[in-house]
Amino acid sequence: MLINTVTDDALAWQETALCAQAGPEFFFPAPGSSTREAKQLCNACEGRQACLEYALANDERFGVWGGLSEKERERLRRDGRDRR
Ligand code: SF4
Repeated sequence: MLINTVTDDALAWQETALCAQAGPEFFFPAPGSSTREAKQLCNACEGRQACLEYALANDERFGVWGGLSEKERERLRRDGRDRR
């Protein structure tokens, strides 16, 4: 989810973020609500991989980032730790 408008190279993916056109409730749904539509938008977003890497690097705990929910990102982190 797009939080700021920094145009630094590392954050260039935010300039094409499709979520900027959707409301925050779309990417930060209430507990128990579907994340399916947000994930569909992420799947069409050209910055998806960079967005996901940003969320993982910055330990973003809430919302859909890079097509993954907070639970899916946590699982990815856990699986990465388990492989070390
Ligand atoms: S991948 Fe999803 S959350 Fe990330 S910038 Fe694109 S639309 Fe937004």
